Formats: sequence, structure tokens, C-alpha cells
Amino acid sequence: MTIVGIRGFRDILPGDVERWQFIENTTRKILEDFGFKEIKIPVLEKTELFARSIGEDTDIVEKEMYSFLDRKGESLTLRPEATASVLRAYIEHNLYKEEPIKKLYSIGPMFRYERPQKGRYRQFYQINAEVLGVEDPKIDVELMVMLLHLLKRLGVRRTDLSVNSLGCSRCRPQFRDSLRSFFETRLDILCPDCKRRLKTNPLRIMDCKMETCTKVASDAPSILDFLCSECLTHFDAVEEMLRTFEIPYVVNPHMVRGLDYYTRTAFEISSSELGAQNAIAGGGRYDNLLKELGGPDIPGIGFAIGIERLALLLEEREGLFRFPKVFVAALGSEAQNDAFRLTTALRLKGIWVEMDYGDKSLKSQMRRANKLKADFALIMGEQELKSGSATLRDMKTGHQEEIDLGKGMDELIEKIG
Ligand code: AMP
Repeated sequence: MTIVGIRGFRDILPGDVERWQFIENTTRKILEDFGFKEIKIPVLEKTELFARSIGEDTDIVEKEMYSFLDRKGESLTLRPEATASVLRAYIEHNLYKEEPIKKLYSIGPMFRYERPQKGRYRQFYQINAEVLGVEDPKIDVELMVMLLHLLKRLGVRRTDLSVNSLGCSRCRPQFRDSLRSFFETRLDILCPDCKRRLKTNPLRIMDCKMETCTKVASDAPSILDFLCSECLTHFDAVEEMLRTFEIPYVVNPHMVRGLDYYTRTAFEISSSELGAQNAIAGGGRYDNLLKELGGPDIPGIGFAIGIERLALLLEEREGLFRFPKVFVAALGSEAQNDAFRLTTALRLKGIWVEMDYGDKSLKSQMRRANKLKADFALIMGEQELKSGSATLRDMKTGHQEEIDLGKGMDELIEKIG
């Protein structure tokens, strides 16, 4: 019996991977233009890190983590998100001592035991950006501007930005109480998980994926009515700057995000071009998280973009593929040897050249040149060999000319441009 991959874990094959490379390259360029530096973090962490940061009552921690005991009996987890790991590294390596503001990004796989469907997998890739050390609401807007700019550069046409404020440790308790009173009177409609969450963490009910709970939650009180003056000032400033930059957005007072650590600004970007799984990116502030993880009292904000969903949006995009510059078609073993030497020399000069090995007919080699979509074919036959020349054929126009290879590769390099 052949062995197949695990459900929800996908291979990204050549032909698809070019979209990913385009997404990753464009992301690196734009994030670095905004002052971000890459950080590479492990895929495996101590389970406790995620339980403490994401929150015990969240769907991720309760139901979706890939956790297991290692050979020494320690509970480890394949990371379900990147922020906790980035902050762990930031604290562990005292990065806050280097400079007051750190902008970090990472690109890599995340793991969540969710029900796989189009746009939702158990191993999926995220682009993750974090800014540590800035309380000013300008950075909230800077991140949103950068994110929208990136999506535009990637060719995502329709994006919808939603924002909300999740308050802080001072004003959120009042909101939580009000939510609890609201849901207590509707207890019979809630799913068993949410009945339990009502006691432990009623905010999580707002994030439940069950249809009945979503429906009740849509009438729940708005957190914006409970914000303290500092949180309100912060949120007003964010809204004002979004208007200044003429960025269309909606305020969604019911958006709580799926992780517990958020404070103040939270935002999500979706695209109506996608199907059911239409969220492309989400993020927000987490001003207490560093301290809660045993680090300094430094505010933070970040976001994550899902690469699979971006790749789906880029499906029709052209111009992502590279093709060989030259296909060398050689006839006869002596010509094959010359062709191999030439091919290798051109590759070492940074030119993408292909050739076939083995004794194949000219027709079959030209078919392959066509299939590979090479710009040129260089035909080296017995006849040409004697005169030290070769025939260069422009595969688009069909134009052919003799090239003198006796004096080196300069003429050829010049002709293929
Ligand atoms: P989150 O970390 O849950 O805020 O997710 C951030 C982004 O990651 C989402 O907007 C999606 O684009 C993507 N994402 C989250 N979960 C999955 C998944 N299971 N499969 C594919 N993409 C996902």
C-alpha cells in the first residue's frame, strides 16, 4: 500500500509554488521597506507558552493544538500562531535592550487541528509581523496601511477592513460583566462549550463558530460603550488617521478575534473574492502580553496573513513563471559533449540553460524546447561542430542565425540578451 500525506497537510508543488515565492518575495521587500527585520523561530514550543498567551478557553488551545509528550515526558506543541514564539524569543534574547522599538516579521507554517476545507488546512502558512515598544496609535495605522499596500501590490483587488477596540484591563471587566448578564438570559440557546465559557470567559462566546451562538452574539452589547477614556482616545485617533489616509473601513464592535491576548485595536481584512473562508489577515494590540509572559512592560501590536488564501486569490495571475533562456539541442555524442560544456559554462554565468541528455532526435529536442517555453534554441549538429558554429533559433519568431562559438560565448550571450 502506498503511503499518502496527512489530512489537512498539503504539498505545494512546482506550478503552484511560484505564487508562494511571489507572495514571499513581495512581502519581504515591502516589510523591509517599512523597517521590519526577519526572525526565524522554531515550529515547536513548550505547550505552556501557547496556553498562557493565547488563552485556555480559546478554540485554538481547547481543540486545535497539535500537542504531544516528547521522549522525556515534556508537553510540546506545534505552533498554532507566531506571536507567542516571537515574544518568547524577544524576552529570551533581551532584544528590548538593543533598541526601544523592534519590528520583526516571520514567514512559516502554523498547525491547527481544524476541519479541512478550501482555504482551511491543518498545516497552513502565515506571514507574521510584530512591532514591540510603541504605544502611539500611529503604529496601529501604519500596520494597516502596510498590510493594505502589500495586498494591493500582490494584486488582491477587493479587500474589506474591519476595526474594533477590545479595551484594556481597566475597562474590559465591565464589558465582560455586561456580556455575562446578556448571555445568562439566553443560556438555553448557547452550545455546551459556550455555556461553560459563560463562567470562564464570556468574550469567547462572541467568537464561537456555532450558528446559534453567532446569532445570539449579534445582539450582544457593544464593547465600544464600555471603553475607558484612554482606550476611547486611542480608538478615535486610529479612526481619524484611517480617514486621513482615505482608507475605507467599518467598525465591527462584535469582532473579538480568536486569541485572548488582544487589547485595544483589533482589525481584520477579508476579501469578497474568497468563498466561505474569506478572512485574509487579522491582528491587533497586545499591550500586556510581554509582561504576562515574564518580559518587560512593553506594548506590542501585530498581524498575521494567511498565505493559502492569498495564493487562491492569485490563481489567475500571469507573469509569475520564469522560463529557460536557451535550450541547447545537440546531435551526436561529440556535439553532446560540447553542448554539455557550453550549458555548464552558461549556467555558471547565471543564464538559465537546459539540454537533454541521451541521444534524441532533433525533433524530440525541439519539442522539449517548446514545452519548456525556452526563449531560444541553440542547435549544435555534426555539421556545425566542424565549423565551430551553432544555429540560434528565436523560438517566438522562428528567426534563425549562425553563431560563431569558436571565439567563445560572447556573441551568443549578446544575441540572447
Ligand atoms: P488568526 O491567526 O486566526 O488570526 O489567522 C490569521 C490568518 O491566517 C487568517 O486570516 C487566515 O488567512 C489564516 N488562517 C488561519 N487559520 C487557517 C487555516 N486553518 N488554514 C488556512 N489559513 C488559515
